[in-house]
Amino acid sequence: MSDPLLEVRNLRVQFATRRGVLTAIDDVSLSIAAGEVLGVVGESGAGKSLTGAAILGLLEPPGRITGGEIRLAGRRIDGLPPEQMRRIRGREIGAIFQDPLTSLNPLYTVGRQLVETIQTHLPMSDAESRARAIELLAQTGIPAPEARIEHYPHQFSGGMRQRVVIALALAARPRLIIADEPTTALDVSIQAQIITLIKRLCRDQGTAVMLVTHDMGVIAETADRVAVMYAGRLAEVGPVGDVIHHPRHPYTVGLMGSIPSMTSDLPRLSQIDGTMPRLGAIAAGCAFHPRCPRRMPICTERRPELDDGARTRAACWLHVAQPSEIGG
Ligand code: SF4
Repeated sequence: MSDPLLEVRNLRVQFATRRGVLTAIDDVSLSIAAGEVLGVVGESGAGKSLTGAAILGLLEPPGRITGGEIRLAGRRIDGLPPEQMRRIRGREIGAIFQDPLTSLNPLYTVGRQLVETIQTHLPMSDAESRARAIELLAQTGIPAPEARIEHYPHQFSGGMRQRVVIALALAARPRLIIADEPTTALDVSIQAQIITLIKRLCRDQGTAVMLVTHDMGVIAETADRVAVMYAGRLAEVGPVGDVIHHPRHPYTVGLMGSIPSMTSDLPRLSQIDGTMPRLGAIAAGCAFHPRCPRRMPICTERRPELDDGARTRAACWLHVAQPSEIGG
C-alpha cells in the first residue's frame, strides 16, 4: 500500500461520567490510502461512528480523545484548535451523514449552500463557484441542475437530498470523505445507487473514503479493505475479499451470517446471540467472550492483540499464540 493518507494510531476516546471514566474507543489503529475505500463495520455501539467523529473533530463532550494520534497526509490533526479543525473539515475532509437534513440548512437553497461551501474553501468568484455547484449537482446525478440549484432541501426526495449532501461533501475537493451510514435512511432501491455514486466520484477524484456502516452487504459492494469493530476495539482488519470469504474472528463470522448469499460455504451462525455490551459493562479479556461460541478459558482473562495473519489481522486467541505457548 502507498503511504497512508489517513493514519489513526492507538486511538482512545473516553467519557468522564459521574460513575467514572468510560472507554468508548480502545487502542484503535487504522489507515486509508488515497483513493481507497475502508469499510468500518460492526453492530450499533461498536464505536465506528465515534471513530469517525474523532477524526472529524466532532466528538460531543464529555467524549474526548485521551490517547493515540490522528494524522492526515502526515500532519497531526487531533487536538487542533476548533477553528483550524473547521477549516480542515470541508476543505480536506468531507462528511456524509445518515440523515441528509442534518447537513443541509432548510432555509437556504441548495445552490447557496454549495456556493458558500465552495467559496469558504476555494478562491472562486461567484460565477465560477455557481458553475462548479451546477457541475457538482450534475456529477451526483441530479437532473436539470441549472433549475434545481434554486430549490430548497425540502423540494428534494430523500435520495436526491443525499446526492446534494454528497455534492456538498465533495465541493472543496477534499482528500478524505467520512461517510457514516450514508444509505441507512434511504429506500433499498436507492441505496445501491448512492453507494455506487460515492465510490465512482471518489475513484475519479482519488479521494479516500471511510465508510461506516452496520451492513456487511454494503461493505462487500464498496470497500477495498474492512475494519471490523466490536466494543470500541478492532476485531479484524483486512482486504474485503479475505474478510468476507475467510473471516478469522468469530464476531466477523457471525456478521457474515447476516448476508445469506455470501455464507453458503462458511460455518454459519444464524445470528450472534446476545447484544453489544454497554459502555462500562465491557467484559474483561476478549470483549466478545460472553457471546462467543468458541470461547476458551484464556478469553475471559487476557485481551488478545491483533495478530499478523497472512490475509487478515484478527484479535482472537484462536489465532494468537497464547501466553503459555510463548512462556508469558
Ligand atoms: Fe472468541 Fe476467545 Fe476469540 Fe474472543 S478471543 S473471539 S472469546 S475465541
